[in-house]
Amino acid sequence: MILIHVCCGPCLLYPLAWFRERGIEVVGYFYNPNIHPYREFKARIKALEEVEALKGLNILWDKNYGLRWFIKETLMVWENPQKRCERCYVVRLKQTVKKALELKAEAFTTTLLYSIYQRHNLIREIAEDLSHKYKIPFFYEDFRKGYQLGQQEALNIGIYRQAYCGCVFSEEERYSKTRKKELNKSLKKEE
Ligand code: SF4
Repeated sequence: MILIHVCCGPCLLYPLAWFRERGIEVVGYFYNPNIHPYREFKARIKALEEVEALKGLNILWDKNYGLRWFIKETLMVWENPQKRCERCYVVRLKQTVKKALELKAEAFTTTLLYSIYQRHNLIREIAEDLSHKYKIPFFYEDFRKGYQLGQQEALNIGIYRQAYCGCVFSEEERYSKTRKKELNKSLKKEE
């Protein structure tokens, strides 16, 4: 069995189909203290519950709302999106590894590898480091190739599809033109 960290319902659809086509058993794990505000967190849980029921997938849930945790974790780095996201990935994947070890899973992976908006290579690097450190295989696949298929299925089944990554900062980066400009400038400086 492979434990798959699940960030949300829409991002699970394609990877789940991919595993099932190959006869590989997966169990989902929802652990995302990075999703804010509260109503958004609830909306994403509801969408994933719909997928869980529709697909008959076993999902292990951590439904604790993590705003306070996230603020503490990112206090020193929130102004640097690169570092902020890195910390966010590390925490979610480390928790997934611990859960996978507890369940004696053969490997772990994440639906974060499906999104074309995530820092794919950074996620892969972090997961490989954790795999090495905790001695559990990381199952890598570039699920981005199925991005359109997954999105289309989410539309067809009518589940909620979020418009931003998750944290309050990403919500601002999505909707504030000023913040978008500042962000682009800081990313250019980093290049
Ligand atoms: S933008 Fe997304 S990955 Fe980055 S810190 Fe926010 S929720 Fe986490």
